[in-house]
Amino acid sequence: MTKADYYEILGVPRDAGEDAIKKAYRQLAFKFHPDRNPGDAEAESKFKEAAEAYEVLRDPQKRARYDRFGHQGLGDTGFGGFSNPEDIFSTFSDIFGEFFGFSQGARGRGPRPQAGNDLRYDLRVAFRDAAKGMEAALKIPRNVPCHECEGSGAAPGTRPETCRQCGGAGQVHQSQGFFRIAVTCPVCRGEGVVVPNPCPRCKGKGALPDVRELKVRIPAGVDDGSRLRLRGEGEPGQHGGPPGDLYVIIHVEEDKTFRRQGQDLVYSLEIGMVQAALGEKVQVPTLDGEETMEIPKGTQSGEVFSLRGKGLPHPGRSGHGDLLVEVIVTTPKSLSKKQEELLREFLRAEEDKPMKKVKNFFKKAKDAAMGS
Ligand SMILES: [Zn+2]
Ligand SMILES: [Zn+2]
Repeated sequence: MTKADYYEILGVPRDAGEDAIKKAYRQLAFKFHPDRNPGDAEAESKFKEAAEAYEVLRDPQKRARYDRFGHQGLGDTGFGGFSNPEDIFSTFSDIFGEFFGFSQGARGRGPRPQAGNDLRYDLRVAFRDAAKGMEAALKIPRNVPCHECEGSGAAPGTRPETCRQCGGAGQVHQSQGFFRIAVTCPVCRGEGVVVPNPCPRCKGKGALPDVRELKVRIPAGVDDGSRLRLRGEGEPGQHGGPPGDLYVIIHVEEDKTFRRQGQDLVYSLEIGMVQAALGEKVQVPTLDGEETMEIPKGTQSGEVFSLRGKGLPHPGRSGHGDLLVEVIVTTPKSLSKKQEELLREFLRAEEDKPMKKVKNFFKKAKDAAMGS
């Protein structure tokens, strides 16, 4: 059985350079890849053929021998072709790796630095504390290096060993269909080392749970749901990676007295209808104690008066919101005999007002005209 010419298989001239050969092979490998041609025996044999041709022509010694003696010249080198695509992938991992974007740099350098995890801390703050600002003491559970083994995880007097599965790289390569992907080594979990004799104190983890106390300044006027970021206060990094950040989520409790509208505070003030009509001096609560305020004559229910600068401070800049006093006029539900008499008298006086008289006159005239 005669074998096809390697140069013809790759479709390159006999004096083709290394790059041209590599490029030609890549194109064929892509075209005839088994995953792109499922069940196509011809494509698979072309795929293997191309790999075989490339295997010979990329090697200057083999190529020289092939150029002089043809296929016969390679007979005693022990090259028998590829039996399956997996062999092709592992032999030419450089080509497939580069081709599909896996960088060479990531391989064989030991475990990569990993940034520590970010932590989240939910902090409940009373309304008044949020308004005035405060210092909060946080207790944050996190891991610290074990002091017994100095973080190595190995029992005192022993050492961690290089992982045999991945040779210390922390990653192994798997073929998944068309792609070769790097996955975390299952034996050492990406550490690159294994610990044959675990430290009894941390059970080989190299870290112990700990609680760290941290003081945090809660800015005055902070709103519910605000997030404070504390750089570097998260979990420590691994293999020289930077620590994560700590995020403090602030939950401001509701207040019995005030409602919040941005940096303004809203206070609902109930006054009787007589006070609303006559006007009155009232006491209203503020964040700094009571304050006297004048409700003018003839105030309607729902009217809002503002006390400038008596709201919440703007966190991180100067100035305050306002205190908005919303007046709610109440109607008495039960009246004494005397009060009722006075109100009826008030009503008669109201009807005797000149404006009312004119109105009544027109009403009477209109009724007469309608013939009633
Ligand atoms: Zn490993
Ligand atoms: Zn330990």
